[in-house]
Amino acid sequence: MATPLIELENIHKIYRTEDVETLAVNNVSMKVNSGEYLLITGPSGGGKSTLLSIMGLLEGASSGRYSLAGQDITSHGRSKLAEIRNRELGFVFQAFNLIDDYTVFDNVALPIRYRKEFTKKEIKKRVEKALEEVDMLHRIKHHPSQLSGGQQQRVAIARAIIGAPKIIYADEPTGNLDSRNAATIMTLLKEQHSAGVTVCVVSHDDRHLVDATQRYAMLDGSLQHSSTVDSVVSPFKENHAVMD
Ligand code: ADP
Repeated sequence: MATPLIELENIHKIYRTEDVETLAVNNVSMKVNSGEYLLITGPSGGGKSTLLSIMGLLEGASSGRYSLAGQDITSHGRSKLAEIRNRELGFVFQAFNLIDDYTVFDNVALPIRYRKEFTKKEIKKRVEKALEEVDMLHRIKHHPSQLSGGQQQRVAIARAIIGAPKIIYADEPTGNLDSRNAATIMTLLKEQHSAGVTVCVVSHDDRHLVDATQRYAMLDGSLQHSSTVDSVVSPFKENHAVMD
């Protein structure tokens, strides 16, 4: 069998403040193969965002092992992780997370701006291509505050794909959007998946179920495969018509 792209073993994440200890991720083990569309759903506070941040190398686990493309990265230092994150991963967030002082061009260019292999000309070409893919080329000189939420998220997707990542992590990517714009964002993620990118989405939005190839629910820090959670977490039940 092929090596999983992502392999988590017994991942725990504990947040400690002065008087409270929160077990946000409780002993999560999971394998994600290349080309999957992973969906993690479940109630608020269940640990979904924390798990996605760990998978995206945005924060470290308290314990457990993490292998990416067969390489154990558990004990990698910050700079090595940052390099992997920059080269291999793309991110989409609920709040878009664009930089207001930057133009659309500069926001999209950011992940590849400091990569030595790209000339200015190549960066420009790539930014234009990425913006074309999300139908936002006409707003290349605008600032995020001049765009609607749906447009900002399309720009965020352009930023996520500009470095040709192996994996896109999306945390509630449609959470701040109306249903029409949400549908557009889902289509764009689906297109990335069809092009071979592994897509990992955390969402309350049941419409992702149609595209997902692997489904989990997260409850109180524990991950449960969808086949075992149908009776526990209702969103899956309501979508049987779509899934069958
Ligand atoms: P979800 O994405 O499912 O809503 P989160 O991963 O955001 O869940 O949160 C899981 C738990 O961890 C919650 O109890 C939350 O309050 C806690 N938590 C998340 N981030 C932090 C943090 N930076 N410091 C302390 N507690 C946190």
